[in-house]
Amino acid sequence: MPASDPTGGRPVDPSRGALRPLGLAEARVTGGFWADRQRVNGDATLDHARTWMEKVGWIGNFARGDAAGPVERRGREFSDSEVYKLVEAMSWETGRRPDPARTREIDELVATIGAAQEPDGYLNTAFGRPGQQPRYSDLASGHELYCAGHLLQAAVAHTRVHGPGELLRIARRVADQVCATFGPAGNPGICGHPEIETALVELFRLTGERRYLDQAALFVDRRGHQSLPPHQFGWSYYSDDVPVRSATVLRGHAVRALYLACGAVDVAVETGDDDLLRAVAGQFDRTLARRTYLTGGMGSRYADEAFGDDFVLPADRAYSESCAGVAAVMLAWRLLLATGEDRYADVIERILYNVVATAIDDDGRAFFYAHSLHQRTPTRALPEDEEQLGFGGGPRAPWFEVSCCLPNVARLLASLGTYLAAADGDGLRVLQYADALIDTRLADGRRVALAVRTGYPDSGTVTVRVDATDGGVWPLTLRVPAWARGATVEVDGVSRPAPEGRLTVRRDFAAGDEVRLHLPMAPRFTFPDPRIDAVRGCVAVERGPVVYCAESTSDEPVGDLDMVRVDPGRPPHDDADRVAVWARLATPAPRAWPYGEAAATADETPLAPLRLLPYHRWARRGPATMRVWLPTTTDAR
Ligand SMILES: [Zn+2]
Repeated sequence: MPASDPTGGRPVDPSRGALRPLGLAEARVTGGFWADRQRVNGDATLDHARTWMEKVGWIGNFARGDAAGPVERRGREFSDSEVYKLVEAMSWETGRRPDPARTREIDELVATIGAAQEPDGYLNTAFGRPGQQPRYSDLASGHELYCAGHLLQAAVAHTRVHGPGELLRIARRVADQVCATFGPAGNPGICGHPEIETALVELFRLTGERRYLDQAALFVDRRGHQSLPPHQFGWSYYSDDVPVRSATVLRGHAVRALYLACGAVDVAVETGDDDLLRAVAGQFDRTLARRTYLTGGMGSRYADEAFGDDFVLPADRAYSESCAGVAAVMLAWRLLLATGEDRYADVIERILYNVVATAIDDDGRAFFYAHSLHQRTPTRALPEDEEQLGFGGGPRAPWFEVSCCLPNVARLLASLGTYLAAADGDGLRVLQYADALIDTRLADGRRVALAVRTGYPDSGTVTVRVDATDGGVWPLTLRVPAWARGATVEVDGVSRPAPEGRLTVRRDFAAGDEVRLHLPMAPRFTFPDPRIDAVRGCVAVERGPVVYCAESTSDEPVGDLDMVRVDPGRPPHDDADRVAVWARLATPAPRAWPYGEAAATADETPLAPLRLLPYHRWARRGPATMRVWLPTTTDAR
């Protein structure tokens, strides 16, 4: 194992697959939409999360206590995992942007974490200490292996960026203890919340220690046999209802299902189990086709944070947890690397612009847990020093009792550069569009350096310039998003239509050569599948990869958004920095009973332009109501 990964490291590093991911040092966001968010993440969110984790005691939980007795543990049973995710985010951030002070901060946190490790490697602040439940006495909801998984992922990130150190030593002892306890001849249990599976595979990829992969495969195979206790929401809540390779769709708690699917793909890739890979890919396909919001958000049931049945996708009860967005990016990325299929990059783009970009406030110090697509009552202002107990609706809150989402988004943003491009066969594929510098080596060792310039997603023009190349013919491939009908590509001043999915320019590139992609960015109506009853008769507006919404605030009141009716016969159009549709307000006559033999009569205002804004911009201008899906004037009321 090298001192640190010379590529700068990446979250997922499979040994085989259609694409080879790049490391943080090989692909950097240099400006624009995502650079802004990475800067806020590094400058504000990480410190914000650290401060809160100190304040609510989650970091202090690692203290061993002193002569006065053991420390009183605070927070939920899984709070250790949030500290680990923060360390992971900080680790990627120091790889993206070296910072000695941050590196020292990580070392201090690692020392704090390490002090809580038991002599046999076990590490969890909620179990096994005096006055606490015994270890592994509540696998269904104790989250011990889930927490261990996040520790392993933090160690992988830290090691790839900084080289092997104390955190890796801690993590290997944790993993060894897990393998010793849950190996083939040991405890046959599984954790109620998957996560350890994908983490063990990545630790195997880092260390080459085969038993970590074997243990992950064992955990994947053990799931789905109803070995966990019955749950009020059924065994599907923790994906323990059907074996992974027999399931047809993701179900139950969305984050659990998605993390498990990530682990199953990782196991499938490393063991050459193509049946398992196909099974998970099929489940994800069906989930995308029937159980996913327009934003790419997943999960439509609050009570169990779960996927609903097919087409149960109510806008005003969209759960769409930020963590499920991150987890779906993780799964789509693994499937993209394994298969090379462009549509997974489209999925990642959709989630990034409409869930991840929506999650965090402009100052980086407040966030959404759930992502409603229809806010009927105005959001309210929240005090900056108040922890929120609930998850739902707006506005973004500085902290929640369960704050899984903030460090999860933070670790994704810090490592976002690694999702921009990948090596394929003998060439290079640009997968996401941002101002970026890409500097890597092709499969045969030749160096290629590219500069990507774009105003994306405001502008659809993407210029990829070859800055350096060792010469010889190689293919440069650019993704053509599925929404970009009519895209063109320009090479040497000659323009031609871009094919669907991706375009490849294969030539003996010279420094200074440019390939320019033009993606049509006219706003467009999007219509839902008629089986999604909750939004039947509605339209949404998208522009490029960005979903739009109507928002009513005190500074820009639109009226009652429940009354909006959009004319679907007149296409949406650009309006200064916004997008506008033609709409009227239809006010039904008051009735004592909201049902009747005839449709309600309504007073209607004349059609007028209604200005929409990107969904990711909502709830940033004070208390607001909002909706993504807009009823139409042709809708039978
Ligand atoms: Zn979360």
